[in-house]
Amino acid sequence: MEDMQLKNYMEDVVMRNLDAILAKFPKACKCDECRKDIATLALNNLPPRYISSHQGDIFMRVNDMELQYLVEVIQQIAKAIKIVSEHPRHHRDEPLLK
Ligand SMILES: [Zn+2]
Repeated sequence: MEDMQLKNYMEDVVMRNLDAILAKFPKACKCDECRKDIATLALNNLPPRYISSHQGDIFMRVNDMELQYLVEVIQQIAKAIKIVSEHPRHHRDEPLLK
């Protein structure tokens, strides 16, 4: 089983779209911690879609599936941004370095 590579492609879709959606929320904290929380939250609300990385037509398939789920992904990311912005795990008065 060691070389069996399963991958949740939903992670890629979320990571690829996260920053673009975050850019629409100027008040949202964009530190690594919050971005990770947002991605985690969104992924927990999205169906996981596992693909084997050995499949040759992987990129085609991912693009097809990305289109299929994009609306839902965007909705879940936006929802997660709102939740994390209202309840950031770090203190708001912490200096934001980035
Ligand atoms: Zn933050």
